[in-house]
Amino acid sequence: MAAAGARTRLVRLKEDLAELDGLVIPGGESTTMTMLMQRMGLYDSVRQAVRDGLPTLGTCAGMILLAERISDGLPDQPGFGILDIAVRRNGYGRQVDSFEADLELAGDERPFPGVFIRAPIVEDTGSTEVIARHEGDPVGVRQGSVMALAFHPELSGDLRLHEEFVHLVEGRAS
Ligand code: GLN
Repeated sequence: MAAAGARTRLVRLKEDLAELDGLVIPGGESTTMTMLMQRMGLYDSVRQAVRDGLPTLGTCAGMILLAERISDGLPDQPGFGILDIAVRRNGYGRQVDSFEADLELAGDERPFPGVFIRAPIVEDTGSTEVIARHEGDPVGVRQGSVMALAFHPELSGDLRLHEEFVHLVEGRAS
């Protein structure tokens, strides 16, 4: 995000959410992230901040956390229930754990290098706008001020999606 022109800070405590213009929920392991956020008292505050319109980018596990419908999660994996999508955790994982592929971005002719690591499959895009596809299948969506990607744009060195998010944040902040 810094490379795309944003000042950043880590959110470890709910106090760290104050005065943020945007939030990135990164990849990792959605079950562990949920548990840690609950333990640190962050879970409800983060969910509420996103619900209240804080521009948010979720990647991979972050996408799972934002989704309204999660398959193959843990039985008690709640999810924020914010984005009108259905995801299957590790949906690509059973076929191939990790892979790279050229993606099609909406409104951009140039392919985007997508890095997928035990990525979720988006099974239903609901009312969201699809912003990235892999062989025709949706791998990136946007709904209002929330963007979610099944892959890891930070590992590709291509800043276009980070810049798009920074623009979104600037648009909301101004
Ligand atoms: N498979 C992970 C999960 O279920 C996501 C993987 C990732 O973020 N790269 O949370």
